[in-house]
Amino acid sequence: MNDERQQVGLELARETIAGSDGPHVLITAGVHGDEHEPMAAVRALIAILRGRNLRGRVTLVPVVNETAYRLGQRTGDDGRDLARTCPGRADGTSTERAADALSALIRTADYYIDLHTGGTRLRVFPLVGYGLVADAAVLNQQRRMARAFGLPVIWGTDPNLEGRSLSVARDARVPAIYAEYHGGGTWDSTGVEAYIHGCLNVLADLEMLERRRSLPISPPLIVEDPRPGAGHMQVNHPAPVEGFFTPSVDLGSKVQAGQPLGVISDLLGKSAQPVPAQHGGMVLVIHARCYIAAGECAGVVLET
Ligand SMILES: [Zn+2]
Repeated sequence: MNDERQQVGLELARETIAGSDGPHVLITAGVHGDEHEPMAAVRALIAILRGRNLRGRVTLVPVVNETAYRLGQRTGDDGRDLARTCPGRADGTSTERAADALSALIRTADYYIDLHTGGTRLRVFPLVGYGLVADAAVLNQQRRMARAFGLPVIWGTDPNLEGRSLSVARDARVPAIYAEYHGGGTWDSTGVEAYIHGCLNVLADLEMLERRRSLPISPPLIVEDPRPGAGHMQVNHPAPVEGFFTPSVDLGSKVQAGQPLGVISDLLGKSAQPVPAQHGGMVLVIHARCYIAAGECAGVVLET
């Protein structure tokens, strides 16, 4: 078990629920301030886990980047994306300080789950992801956590992406997964439910709590893609121009290479530029807002 770090520059609002001796699991939401279902799921998990007979302890953080949450946006009041700022710094800007506090917490954990959605800009097919880290024992534990979580897609990707919560976990050899579930600026109670069950499933798989096996789900689609940049959604299918984006495909649908993911129109409809799929596969992410900036992610196609 890792040692507790003594000094944490910024205190994240959190709850630790402790039982008998056992592992320490960290569950976080609100690394991005516009991803609301994970925050509600963590709050619900605090209520569910209070009073349960736990082996080990669970630390739950409903909102990591509080200034981003207050602004209802991905980035903090300093304009920084916390998932590009880790490990942060204790004497830095608001997001740097939150990243530093989060990184310190991750280093105290034995297992880590980070809950996300596509935020206001993207919608994401429900998935659990992890980095294809070099440490085989850590990687196998991540695969096992991802299977236990119980979402339809499991996506192992480039472990060398920096600045993220999972980069800190990788460096500390803490088995870690993240989850994505829809988004697009709406409220989706199915995402809250899926995250509550997913986290409880992982805790049960770690033999930290008694839990009747949830109903069998269909086997997940598992894709492991170690290529550099795999898993970096924001650089996929960059919009060739700015404009009004109308998607042509649904999340989860199959596309062929060259098939348009959507069309970008100018305001008066004089031009309509398709964004073709660069390869065939399953639509994992699609841009959610009307306005798309040039270079912004129009979608992600999972090569299956
Ligand atoms: Zn996020």
